[in-house]
Amino acid sequence: MIKAKGIAAKSAKSNLVPFSFERRDPKPHDVVIDIKYCGICHSDIHQVRSEWGESIYPMVPGHEIAGVVRAVGTHVTKYKVGDHVGVGCFVDSCRTCSSCKAEMDNYCLEGMTQTYNSVERDGKTVTQGGYSDVIVVDENYVLRIPNSIPLDKAAPLLCAGITLYSPLTHWKAGPNKKVAIMGLGGLGHMGVKIAVALGAEVTVLSHSDKKREDALKMGAHHFVSTADSSVFAKYESTFDLIINTVSSSEINMGDYFNLLKLDGTLVVVGAPDKPLEIHPFPLIIKRRSYSGSVIGSIKETQEMLDFCAQHNITPEIEVIDPSYVNEAYERVLKSDVRYRFVMDMSKI
Ligand SMILES: [Zn+2]
Ligand SMILES: [Zn+2]
Repeated sequence: MIKAKGIAAKSAKSNLVPFSFERRDPKPHDVVIDIKYCGICHSDIHQVRSEWGESIYPMVPGHEIAGVVRAVGTHVTKYKVGDHVGVGCFVDSCRTCSSCKAEMDNYCLEGMTQTYNSVERDGKTVTQGGYSDVIVVDENYVLRIPNSIPLDKAAPLLCAGITLYSPLTHWKAGPNKKVAIMGLGGLGHMGVKIAVALGAEVTVLSHSDKKREDALKMGAHHFVSTADSSVFAKYESTFDLIINTVSSSEINMGDYFNLLKLDGTLVVVGAPDKPLEIHPFPLIIKRRSYSGSVIGSIKETQEMLDFCAQHNITPEIEVIDPSYVNEAYERVLKSDVRYRFVMDMSKI
Protein backbone atom coordinates (compact mmCIF):
# COMPACT_ATOMS: atom_id res chain seq x y z
CA MET A 1 0.00 0.00 0.00
CA ILE A 2 1.03 3.61 -0.55
CA LYS A 3 1.11 5.90 2.48
CA ALA A 4 -0.88 9.10 2.03
CA LYS A 5 -1.20 12.28 4.06
CA GLY A 6 -4.40 14.27 3.81
CA ILE A 7 -6.95 16.38 5.58
CA ALA A 8 -10.26 14.84 6.44
CA ALA A 9 -13.68 15.48 7.95
CA LYS A 10 -14.42 12.98 10.72
CA SER A 11 -18.11 13.97 10.94
CA ALA A 12 -20.62 16.42 9.47
CA LYS A 13 -20.12 18.78 12.38
CA SER A 14 -16.33 18.79 12.84
CA ASN A 15 -13.60 20.85 11.20
CA LEU A 16 -11.20 19.22 8.75
CA VAL A 17 -8.09 17.81 10.46
CA PRO A 18 -4.81 16.14 9.37
CA PHE A 19 -5.33 12.48 8.49
CA SER A 20 -3.04 9.58 7.51
CA PHE A 21 -4.37 6.81 5.28
CA GLU A 22 -3.37 4.42 2.48
CA ARG A 23 -3.86 4.27 -1.28
CA ARG A 24 -3.92 0.98 -3.20
CA ASP A 25 -0.75 -0.26 -4.91
CA PRO A 26 -1.08 0.44 -8.64
CA LYS A 27 -2.97 -2.20 -10.62
CA PRO A 28 -1.89 -2.72 -14.29
CA HIS A 29 -3.92 0.26 -15.58
CA ASP A 30 -3.36 2.59 -12.62
CA VAL A 31 -1.46 5.86 -12.49
CA VAL A 32 0.09 7.03 -9.20
CA ILE A 33 -0.10 10.82 -9.04
CA ASP A 34 1.81 13.18 -6.72
CA ILE A 35 -0.84 15.81 -6.04
CA LYS A 36 0.54 19.34 -6.32
CA TYR A 37 -2.64 21.40 -6.08
CA CYS A 38 -6.30 20.83 -5.21
CA GLY A 39 -9.14 23.31 -5.63
CA ILE A 40 -11.90 23.88 -3.10
CA CYS A 41 -15.35 23.39 -4.62
CA HIS A 42 -18.62 24.42 -2.96
CA SER A 43 -19.78 20.82 -3.33
CA ASP A 44 -16.90 19.72 -1.05
CA ILE A 45 -18.54 21.74 1.70
CA HIS A 46 -22.01 20.32 0.99
CA GLN A 47 -20.64 16.78 1.24
CA VAL A 48 -18.40 17.40 4.27
CA ARG A 49 -21.52 18.66 6.07
CA SER A 50 -23.79 15.83 4.83
CA GLU A 51 -26.04 18.38 3.14
CA TRP A 52 -26.70 16.08 0.15
CA GLY A 53 -27.61 13.01 2.21
CA GLU A 54 -25.50 11.11 4.73
CA SER A 55 -21.81 11.18 3.76
CA ILE A 56 -19.10 8.58 4.43
CA TYR A 57 -16.55 9.47 7.15
CA PRO A 58 -13.67 9.96 7.55
CA MET A 59 -13.81 11.88 4.26
CA VAL A 60 -10.87 13.37 2.37
CA PRO A 61 -12.67 15.74 -0.05
CA GLY A 62 -11.30 17.29 -3.23
CA HIS A 63 -12.06 16.75 -6.92
CA GLU A 64 -10.06 19.48 -8.60
CA ILE A 65 -6.75 17.67 -8.62
CA ALA A 66 -3.59 18.62 -10.51
CA GLY A 67 -0.29 16.80 -10.16
CA VAL A 68 2.60 14.90 -11.67
CA VAL A 69 2.80 11.18 -12.48
CA ARG A 70 4.97 9.39 -9.89
CA ALA A 71 4.60 5.83 -11.22
CA VAL A 72 2.47 3.81 -13.64
CA GLY A 73 1.09 0.27 -13.68
CA THR A 74 2.51 -2.35 -16.05
CA HIS A 75 -0.17 -1.90 -18.76
CA VAL A 76 -0.47 1.90 -18.73
CA THR A 77 -0.03 3.35 -22.22
CA LYS A 78 -1.43 6.88 -21.93
CA TYR A 79 0.91 8.37 -19.31
CA LYS A 80 4.50 8.20 -18.16
CA VAL A 81 6.41 9.34 -15.09
CA GLY A 82 6.69 13.14 -14.96
CA ASP A 83 3.57 13.92 -17.03
CA HIS A 84 1.28 16.72 -15.82
CA VAL A 85 -2.12 15.21 -15.12
CA GLY A 86 -5.45 15.96 -13.51
CA VAL A 87 -8.32 14.13 -11.87
CA GLY A 88 -11.85 15.54 -11.72
CA CYS A 89 -15.11 14.54 -10.10
CA PHE A 90 -15.11 10.83 -10.94
CA VAL A 91 -12.54 8.04 -11.07
CA ASP A 92 -14.54 5.20 -12.63
CA SER A 93 -17.85 4.23 -14.23
CA CYS A 94 -19.45 0.94 -15.32
CA ARG A 95 -17.90 1.20 -18.85
CA THR A 96 -20.65 -0.99 -20.36
CA CYS A 97 -23.93 0.97 -20.24
CA SER A 98 -25.23 3.00 -23.19
CA SER A 99 -23.95 6.28 -21.70
CA CYS A 100 -20.45 4.92 -21.04
CA LYS A 101 -20.29 3.37 -24.52
CA ALA A 102 -21.30 6.72 -26.03
CA GLU A 103 -18.44 8.42 -24.14
CA MET A 104 -20.87 10.13 -21.77
CA ASP A 105 -19.50 8.42 -18.69
CA ASN A 106 -20.59 11.34 -16.48
CA TYR A 107 -24.13 10.08 -17.16
CA CYS A 108 -23.26 6.41 -16.43
CA LEU A 109 -26.56 4.59 -15.86
CA GLU A 110 -25.09 2.75 -12.88
CA GLY A 111 -23.73 5.99 -11.46
CA MET A 112 -20.16 7.20 -11.69
CA THR A 113 -17.69 6.40 -8.95
CA GLN A 114 -17.04 9.79 -7.46
CA THR A 115 -13.52 10.83 -6.55
CA TYR A 116 -14.44 10.92 -2.85
CA ASN A 117 -17.43 10.12 -0.64
CA SER A 118 -18.19 7.17 -2.92
CA VAL A 119 -17.55 3.43 -3.09
CA GLU A 120 -15.34 1.78 -5.74
CA ARG A 121 -16.92 -0.73 -8.11
CA ASP A 122 -15.67 -3.56 -5.85
CA GLY A 123 -18.56 -2.50 -3.62
CA LYS A 124 -16.45 -1.91 -0.52
CA THR A 125 -13.46 0.43 -0.97
CA VAL A 126 -14.30 4.01 -0.04
CA THR A 127 -12.82 6.65 -2.37
CA GLN A 128 -10.75 9.51 -0.92
CA GLY A 129 -10.12 12.76 -2.77
CA GLY A 130 -7.51 15.34 -3.53
CA TYR A 131 -6.95 17.11 -0.22
CA SER A 132 -3.92 14.83 0.03
CA ASP A 133 -0.42 14.30 -1.34
CA VAL A 134 -0.98 11.24 -3.57
CA ILE A 135 -3.81 9.48 -5.45
CA VAL A 136 -4.06 6.29 -7.53
CA VAL A 137 -6.47 6.39 -10.49
CA ASP A 138 -7.15 4.22 -13.56
CA GLU A 139 -5.52 5.81 -16.62
CA ASN A 140 -8.86 6.01 -18.42
CA TYR A 141 -10.12 8.51 -15.82
CA VAL A 142 -6.95 10.65 -15.74
CA LEU A 143 -6.69 13.83 -17.81
CA ARG A 144 -3.64 15.28 -19.52
CA ILE A 145 -2.87 18.85 -18.45
CA PRO A 146 -1.23 20.79 -21.28
CA ASN A 147 2.18 22.11 -20.20
CA SER A 148 1.20 25.73 -20.91
CA ILE A 149 -1.34 25.67 -18.04
CA PRO A 150 0.37 26.03 -14.64
CA LEU A 151 -0.75 23.24 -12.31
CA ASP A 152 -2.25 25.57 -9.68
CA LYS A 153 -4.47 27.19 -12.31
CA ALA A 154 -5.30 23.86 -13.93
CA ALA A 155 -6.89 22.45 -10.77
CA PRO A 156 -10.22 24.36 -10.87
CA LEU A 157 -10.71 23.47 -14.53
CA LEU A 158 -11.32 19.86 -13.48
CA CYS A 159 -14.70 20.73 -11.91
CA ALA A 160 -15.56 24.42 -12.34
CA GLY A 161 -14.17 24.55 -15.88
CA ILE A 162 -15.86 21.43 -17.22
CA THR A 163 -19.15 22.18 -15.44
CA LEU A 164 -19.48 25.26 -17.64
CA TYR A 165 -17.73 24.03 -20.80
CA SER A 166 -20.04 21.06 -21.21
CA PRO A 167 -23.40 22.91 -21.29
CA LEU A 168 -21.92 25.85 -23.24
CA THR A 169 -20.76 23.54 -26.03
CA HIS A 170 -23.78 21.20 -25.82
CA TRP A 171 -26.16 24.16 -26.33
CA LYS A 172 -23.81 25.61 -28.97
CA ALA A 173 -22.71 28.89 -27.43
CA GLY A 174 -20.78 30.65 -30.19
CA PRO A 175 -20.93 33.47 -32.74
CA ASN A 176 -24.36 35.14 -33.06
CA LYS A 177 -25.52 33.61 -29.78
CA LYS A 178 -26.40 35.67 -26.72
CA VAL A 179 -25.42 33.90 -23.53
CA ALA A 180 -26.10 35.02 -19.96
CA ILE A 181 -24.27 33.67 -16.94
CA MET A 182 -26.14 33.97 -13.63
CA GLY A 183 -23.69 34.54 -10.78
CA LEU A 184 -19.99 35.40 -10.96
CA GLY A 185 -18.36 32.96 -8.57
CA GLY A 186 -16.06 29.96 -9.03
CA LEU A 187 -18.36 28.46 -11.69
CA GLY A 188 -19.67 31.67 -13.24
CA HIS A 189 -16.31 33.25 -13.91
CA MET A 190 -15.21 30.15 -15.84
CA GLY A 191 -18.45 30.36 -17.81
CA VAL A 192 -17.69 33.93 -18.84
CA LYS A 193 -14.16 33.15 -20.02
CA ILE A 194 -15.16 30.00 -21.93
CA ALA A 195 -18.28 31.51 -23.54
CA VAL A 196 -16.29 34.54 -24.69
CA ALA A 197 -13.62 32.27 -26.19
CA LEU A 198 -16.36 30.29 -27.98
CA GLY A 199 -17.38 33.56 -29.65
CA ALA A 200 -20.71 34.23 -27.92
CA GLU A 201 -21.96 37.63 -26.77
CA VAL A 202 -21.79 37.26 -23.00
CA THR A 203 -23.77 39.01 -20.27
CA VAL A 204 -23.25 38.50 -16.54
CA LEU A 205 -26.40 38.66 -14.39
CA SER A 206 -25.33 39.40 -10.82
CA HIS A 207 -27.32 40.30 -7.71
CA SER A 208 -25.24 43.44 -7.09
CA ASP A 209 -22.92 45.83 -8.90
CA LYS A 210 -19.82 44.75 -6.97
CA LYS A 211 -18.25 42.49 -9.59
CA ARG A 212 -18.92 44.67 -12.65
CA GLU A 213 -15.28 45.63 -13.16
CA ASP A 214 -14.07 42.03 -12.68
CA ALA A 215 -16.63 40.68 -15.15
CA LEU A 216 -15.67 43.14 -17.86
CA LYS A 217 -11.98 42.42 -17.26
CA MET A 218 -12.72 38.72 -17.77
CA GLY A 219 -14.13 39.57 -21.18
CA ALA A 220 -17.88 39.77 -20.52
CA HIS A 221 -19.53 42.13 -23.02
CA HIS A 222 -22.27 43.29 -20.64
CA PHE A 223 -22.92 43.29 -16.90
CA VAL A 224 -26.43 43.55 -15.47
CA SER A 225 -27.14 44.03 -11.77
CA THR A 226 -30.46 42.40 -10.92
CA ALA A 227 -30.72 44.51 -7.72
CA ASP A 228 -32.65 46.89 -9.99
CA SER A 229 -35.71 44.79 -10.87
CA SER A 230 -36.56 46.95 -13.91
CA VAL A 231 -33.80 45.10 -15.81
CA PHE A 232 -36.09 42.08 -16.14
CA ALA A 233 -38.44 44.06 -18.39
CA LYS A 234 -35.57 45.72 -20.23
CA TYR A 235 -33.90 42.41 -21.18
CA GLU A 236 -37.06 40.38 -21.87
CA SER A 237 -36.62 37.82 -24.71
CA THR A 238 -32.91 38.63 -25.13
CA PHE A 239 -30.87 35.45 -24.58
CA ASP A 240 -30.48 32.17 -26.44
CA LEU A 241 -28.95 30.47 -23.42
CA ILE A 242 -28.78 31.23 -19.70
CA ILE A 243 -26.60 29.22 -17.35
CA ASN A 244 -27.60 29.41 -13.69
CA THR A 245 -24.54 28.93 -11.47
CA VAL A 246 -26.17 30.36 -8.34
CA SER A 247 -26.65 27.93 -5.48
CA SER A 248 -29.28 30.05 -3.72
CA SER A 249 -32.89 28.89 -3.95
CA GLU A 250 -34.18 32.40 -3.27
CA ILE A 251 -34.52 33.25 -6.94
CA ASN A 252 -37.68 34.08 -8.85
CA MET A 253 -37.02 31.76 -11.78
CA GLY A 254 -39.92 33.21 -13.79
CA ASP A 255 -38.04 36.51 -14.05
CA TYR A 256 -35.10 34.69 -15.63
CA PHE A 257 -37.14 32.51 -18.01
CA ASN A 258 -38.67 35.71 -19.38
CA LEU A 259 -35.16 36.81 -20.43
CA LEU A 260 -34.96 33.88 -22.89
CA LYS A 261 -35.88 34.22 -26.56
CA LEU A 262 -38.28 31.86 -28.31
CA ASP A 263 -36.82 28.33 -27.94
CA GLY A 264 -34.16 29.57 -25.50
CA THR A 265 -32.83 27.30 -22.77
CA LEU A 266 -31.98 27.90 -19.14
CA VAL A 267 -29.53 25.35 -17.74
CA VAL A 268 -28.99 24.90 -14.03
CA VAL A 269 -25.54 23.82 -12.83
CA GLY A 270 -25.48 25.39 -9.35
CA ALA A 271 -27.02 23.07 -6.80
CA PRO A 272 -29.31 24.71 -4.25
CA ASP A 273 -30.25 22.62 -1.22
CA LYS A 274 -33.94 23.53 -1.63
CA PRO A 275 -36.23 23.21 -4.67
CA LEU A 276 -36.38 26.09 -7.14
CA GLU A 277 -40.00 27.07 -7.69
CA ILE A 278 -41.16 27.74 -11.21
CA HIS A 279 -44.48 28.57 -12.79
CA PRO A 280 -44.78 26.89 -16.23
CA PHE A 281 -46.28 29.97 -17.93
CA PRO A 282 -42.99 31.63 -19.01
CA LEU A 283 -41.97 28.27 -20.52
CA ILE A 284 -45.25 27.77 -22.37
CA ILE A 285 -45.53 31.15 -24.04
CA LYS A 286 -42.14 31.06 -25.77
CA ARG A 287 -41.47 27.28 -26.00
CA ARG A 288 -38.56 27.78 -23.63
CA SER A 289 -36.67 24.85 -22.08
CA TYR A 290 -35.42 24.24 -18.58
CA SER A 291 -32.50 21.84 -18.28
CA GLY A 292 -29.60 20.76 -16.10
CA SER A 293 -26.09 19.48 -16.67
CA VAL A 294 -23.56 17.62 -14.52
CA ILE A 295 -19.82 18.22 -15.02
CA GLY A 296 -18.75 16.57 -18.31
CA SER A 297 -17.42 13.29 -19.68
CA ILE A 298 -13.75 12.33 -19.59
CA LYS A 299 -13.60 13.00 -23.35
CA GLU A 300 -15.15 16.46 -22.96
CA THR A 301 -12.90 17.26 -20.00
CA GLN A 302 -9.81 16.56 -22.10
CA GLU A 303 -11.28 18.69 -24.90
CA MET A 304 -11.90 21.50 -22.39
CA LEU A 305 -8.31 21.39 -21.08
CA ASP A 306 -6.94 21.55 -24.63
CA PHE A 307 -9.39 24.37 -25.47
CA CYS A 308 -8.29 26.36 -22.40
CA ALA A 309 -4.62 25.89 -23.32
CA GLN A 310 -5.29 26.99 -26.88
CA HIS A 311 -7.25 30.09 -25.82
CA ASN A 312 -5.10 30.95 -22.81
CA ILE A 313 -8.00 30.53 -20.37
CA THR A 314 -7.22 30.06 -16.71
CA PRO A 315 -9.28 30.62 -13.58
CA GLU A 316 -8.67 33.43 -11.08
CA ILE A 317 -7.30 31.74 -7.97
CA GLU A 318 -6.08 32.36 -4.41
CA VAL A 319 -3.43 29.79 -3.50
CA ILE A 320 -3.56 28.81 0.18
CA ASP A 321 -1.95 26.39 2.61
CA PRO A 322 -4.00 23.29 3.43
CA SER A 323 -3.97 24.40 7.09
CA TYR A 324 -6.21 27.33 6.06
CA VAL A 325 -8.98 25.04 4.75
CA ASN A 326 -11.52 25.62 7.53
CA GLU A 327 -11.29 29.42 7.22
CA ALA A 328 -11.43 29.03 3.44
CA TYR A 329 -14.73 27.12 3.76
CA GLU A 330 -16.26 29.97 5.76
CA ARG A 331 -15.11 32.44 3.13
CA VAL A 332 -16.53 30.32 0.27
CA LEU A 333 -19.89 30.34 2.05
CA LYS A 334 -19.75 34.15 2.18
CA SER A 335 -18.67 34.33 -1.50
CA ASP A 336 -15.49 35.98 -0.20
CA VAL A 337 -13.07 34.48 -2.72
CA ARG A 338 -11.84 35.73 -6.07
CA TYR A 339 -12.62 33.28 -7.56
CA ARG A 340 -11.42 29.87 -6.43
CA PHE A 341 -9.27 28.69 -3.51
CA VAL A 342 -6.53 26.27 -4.55
CA MET A 343 -4.51 24.45 -1.89
CA ASP A 344 -0.77 23.94 -2.32
CA MET A 345 -0.60 20.27 -1.37
CA SER A 346 3.20 20.33 -1.07
CA LYS A 347 2.58 22.18 2.23
CA ILE A 348 0.56 19.36 3.75
ZN1 LIG B 1 -16.82 20.53 -7.77
ZN1 LIG C 1 -21.96 3.24 -17.34
